[in-house]
Amino acid sequence: DNHLATRLRAASLGETDRLFALAGFGHPLSYEALFGAAERMAAVLVSAGVTPGDRVAVQVEKSLETIELYIGTVLAGGVFLPLNTAYTAAELDYFISDAEPAVVVCDPAREAEITPLARGAKVLTLDGHGEGSLRAAADALEPGFRAVPRGPEDLAAILYTSGTTGRSKGAMLTHRALASNSETLRDTWRFTADDVLIHALPIFHTHGLFVATNVTLFAGAAMIFLPKFDAEAIVAALPKATALMGVPTFYTRLLEHPGLTREAVANMRLFISGSAPLLSDTHDKWRERTGHAILERYGMTETNMNTSNPYEGERRAGTVGFPLPGVELKITEPETGATLPQGEIGLIEVRGPNVFSGYWRMPEKTKEELRENGFFITGDLGVIDADGYVSIVGRSKDLIISGGFNVYPKEIEGLIDDLPGVVESAVIGLPHPDFGEGVAAVVVPEAGAELTEAGILAAISDRLARYKLPKRIFFAAELPRNTMGKVQKKALRDSHATTFA
Ligand code: ATP
Ligand code: MG
Repeated sequence: DNHLATRLRAASLGETDRLFALAGFGHPLSYEALFGAAERMAAVLVSAGVTPGDRVAVQVEKSLETIELYIGTVLAGGVFLPLNTAYTAAELDYFISDAEPAVVVCDPAREAEITPLARGAKVLTLDGHGEGSLRAAADALEPGFRAVPRGPEDLAAILYTSGTTGRSKGAMLTHRALASNSETLRDTWRFTADDVLIHALPIFHTHGLFVATNVTLFAGAAMIFLPKFDAEAIVAALPKATALMGVPTFYTRLLEHPGLTREAVANMRLFISGSAPLLSDTHDKWRERTGHAILERYGMTETNMNTSNPYEGERRAGTVGFPLPGVELKITEPETGATLPQGEIGLIEVRGPNVFSGYWRMPEKTKEELRENGFFITGDLGVIDADGYVSIVGRSKDLIISGGFNVYPKEIEGLIDDLPGVVESAVIGLPHPDFGEGVAAVVVPEAGAELTEAGILAAISDRLARYKLPKRIFFAAELPRNTMGKVQKKALRDSHATTFA
């Protein structure tokens, strides 16, 4: 059976008392209760008019009921479409008109504001405690809903990309894509029913929804389900847990917590990072402090996960490891699409059962990025080293072309980040009358460090060709980041746009 909902359930089937969410961190939830509630939600959705292929748009606070709703939507043959809780009414208007959902689920506090945007779709409510009209309707029903049959190429979800490089695009994800990647990740990272994952990520994004939640379900494992990142709560959860999945900022912030000790992590077997680059410095500090090498992996909304550092073997800092089993990855020349030899920087392209089926209602964009032969042009630039480890050197949209020469921000960032007194940096290209783009850097100093523009330039100038050397260095208390910890280079370019004008 290829139905995603059936496969999500397979690992725990018959294990009626097994816990999906552990007690002591919000309410405990058994697998039986989770799937019983999901079946009742499926029945509510069908009676609200959801037919196979219909979208269920969901903008709600994180709760276990949201996961029941996700499974319920898939059971009902619908397409789960979660939306960032930070979206304003104007943004929601775009997403709802684009997605044309049959049902919109929102927080009760926003029902009045969102109902006019729903364009006749049924509006149901669910709050951060799992209460609302959806829950009330579901509670009145009996479990026992039978999954609406769907094929492997039917959609199970549409997830919008983070909008780091432009307007968010809806990635169409099939039962096949989601199930295959969950299974691969479970096996690659050795998740079993004995695992307890600390879940502190948002669940409107692929990292928290598919990587973290699906892997847990596919293993029949348990979660410590936290409403959001909170260093204190995570430190308290560590002794009961075996694994953590986080964005790099989780790790930098946990390192600031005195409770992060070898004793605290004695029960942990795995720390995983992704969604944004993990600094080598963070990797090293984490290893010194805890004895664990963080496992960095690489993926995106359109493909789920593509590469991972090895479970056994060297987890190499600054790299995202090897292509996952079943995933083909190549580096190509941007202009011609020709495959480049090992060691050269180019576009990362991937192909495999994990890849999406196109952008929702954007056939042109789909054609540009998804080749007929099945390779997806990720938009990330990367390189493969002699041992086969893949490194990301930045996004093709962040590539700087100065005086006709390609400048890869990561190379310069790496040098600046290694200087004493520097926390991190972002190198960007700004409009320049002579060079097209001029290189500039935004540097975050450590507290009390006395860094100067001249000092930084002197320290790196003999290691960089002249055209790569920043023409200006700015200092900032922190870099602008979105909820997934991604540096917003576009925001930096906008705020310094007139530097060389
Ligand atoms: P948009 O496509 O709308 O501009 P986005 O690409 O940030 O936004 P996501 O799908 O959430 O949206 O993020 C995927 C991107 O995140 C990847 O293409 C890559 O640039 C980055 N990424 C993910 N994991 C890593 C990692 N381990 N190291 C570096 N970058 C990563
Ligand atoms: Mg993207």
